[in-house]
Amino acid sequence: MGQLVYMNGNLVPVEDAKVSVYDHGFLYGDGAFEGIRVYGGRVFKLKEHIDRLYMSCRVLMIPLPDPAESMVQTVLDLVKTNDVGDGYVRITVSRGVGLGLDPRVCKSATIVIMTDKLALYPPEMYKNGLEVVTVSTRVPPAQSIEPRVKSLGKYLCNIQAKIEANRVGAGEGLMLNVEGYVAEATGDNIFLIKSGEIITPPPYAGILAGITRSTVIELARSKGYNVRETMFTLFDVYTADECFLTGTAAEVIPVVRVDARIIGNGIPGQVTLDLMCAFHDLTNGVGTSA
Ligand code: PMP
Repeated sequence: MGQLVYMNGNLVPVEDAKVSVYDHGFLYGDGAFEGIRVYGGRVFKLKEHIDRLYMSCRVLMIPLPDPAESMVQTVLDLVKTNDVGDGYVRITVSRGVGLGLDPRVCKSATIVIMTDKLALYPPEMYKNGLEVVTVSTRVPPAQSIEPRVKSLGKYLCNIQAKIEANRVGAGEGLMLNVEGYVAEATGDNIFLIKSGEIITPPPYAGILAGITRSTVIELARSKGYNVRETMFTLFDVYTADECFLTGTAAEVIPVVRVDARIIGNGIPGQVTLDLMCAFHDLTNGVGTSA
């Protein structure tokens, strides 16, 4: 049986899973989304992802018809139906169907949940580390688009940033906020290790409060590391002992070169390797299934 897609309460074959050309997500990028990882049929941090989606929709004033618990169950059922072993769940919500900016034209949200395989970084990048470049596209200021909301429209900035990184063949693009502080990579959060301490920008730097980020903070603290959320600049990145990125797709990935500066010894550092290992242990053991 082919993949089924959940669309507003119905399961439809992927070929028939179509959204209206009047959908506000298509017309204006008016919506929110989540990307969730499945390990061995277990959905990783599902409740956290659904909670973040509901928070995004609350901020955007997109009412969702069912409580969060029922979306949790819908995702688990779909993962089972589609027989997802190792893969990805993508939830997309838009304000619904309607022409014109006024959100009142949309009567009910469009909710789509699909499963797929995941495009991963090649294993050598985990072994040797990633090269990252700073891009000129900044994360939008919260006065314009709140980066803590995982909104569809906000990702135009991230796509622009990814284009910049791709142009120079870098593994990821590092984005600053409009004040010049380091915010995050196009699809990942950033961490530095400096003088024995782990630092990462706070949410108000203009980042998405990544679920992998908070998982890694928790893991690191439980292993006795000192973790601090603080603003920092490129100076701190270039002079760090170690650097790594975190994200649902990337998990924990070492960074060894930023803007042609070698980070630390130019190989993945001890703290990074320790946290990569701890994170793998966690994904092997934790998750929810139907
Ligand atoms: N920042 C951005 C901009 C992202 O798109 C993502 C991926 N969702 C992350 C950080 C990492 O977040 P998470 O760990 O929840 O995947």
